Amino acid sequence: MRKVMLYEPGDLRIVECEKPKPKKGEVLIKNMVSLTCGSDVKSYIRGYAKHTPPYNIGHEASGIVDSVGEGVSKFKVGDRVVAHNSAPCNECYYCKKGIHSMCENLISNNLKNGAFSEYQLIPAKIVEQNMFKIPEDMSFKQAALLEPFACAVYGVSQVPVEQGDYVVVNGCGPSGLMFIKLLYLKGARVIACDKSKVRLDAAKKLGAYDVVNIEEVENQVEAVKALTPENRGVDCAVEAAGSVKVWEMSINMVRPGGFALLYGGTKAGEELVVDTKLLHYSQITIKGLYHTTPFYVNQAFELLKMKVIDEKDFLYNEYKLENVKEALMNHHEGNVIKNFITY
Ligand SMILES: [Zn+2]
Ligand SMILES: [Zn+2]
Repeated sequence: MRKVMLYEPGDLRIVECEKPKPKKGEVLIKNMVSLTCGSDVKSYIRGYAKHTPPYNIGHEASGIVDSVGEGVSKFKVGDRVVAHNSAPCNECYYCKKGIHSMCENLISNNLKNGAFSEYQLIPAKIVEQNMFKIPEDMSFKQAALLEPFACAVYGVSQVPVEQGDYVVVNGCGPSGLMFIKLLYLKGARVIACDKSKVRLDAAKKLGAYDVVNIEEVENQVEAVKALTPENRGVDCAVEAAGSVKVWEMSINMVRPGGFALLYGGTKAGEELVVDTKLLHYSQITIKGLYHTTPFYVNQAFELLKMKVIDEKDFLYNEYKLENVKEALMNHHEGNVIKNFITY
């Protein structure tokens, strides 16, 4: 079978390897669709601080069960399925405390069995907790949105938004857009900020009340505040850009007593500067967030069935596996939301 491996930043290769055989509890999926994600783009361009190449790449896919290991009864050969890229161990201190996103032994399938591959081996813990049969009326493309959407669903669950609240979403990539749709459904007046016209148009379509093109304003914080009554600032801010500068701006957009969710991951070692006066006298809450949990993966799959988000708003251009570099670079240019690979 063929799969894609990253040898060093900028050096992606298609390699031939043997098709894996599922062991006890494991499932082998023949991928039908894989999606590009901002984190794959980052890995390709600048590498991934935590990992030493060469490693597999891609982490969003759906497909058909090719074979199952001993003891697997939930799935059978031929089932249309989607698997999230990770699952917690359910045994460590954090899992027992119910904080599954902090699991010390999180089983992450990205590097071992990347999704830019003809076949993907799914570990038993993921099969048990975060793998689903795709209903007949759901496309492979819609199902493949499970991983990023599960993170957004978890993120939105942590935002204390009331109906009619002003909420800014800084960064309208795939995750930011998912936040916008979910926050809109919660009754928020969403202000979407980005520099890409394509993304801002998508934000409007998904329910943003106002948009700010950050390249057309002098001061992004003031521009957002100006869209709230008496310039007081937003009730909640969501950072979905993954830049420490935007983290700081998001905090500064919040009204006294408001809330900021810092969702986008930044580069390792970066430090955040916060005005202590703001934190103390304005009594704002700043929350970090990482990944998702099986509870929200399950919720996300239900929401995908309900078409709360639709693949058509997220997936733009089709590529083949051998053109994965083009798919990633085209994603990077910002004129699409995501691209997809078919086999
Ligand atoms: Zn992703
Ligand atoms: Zn654990």
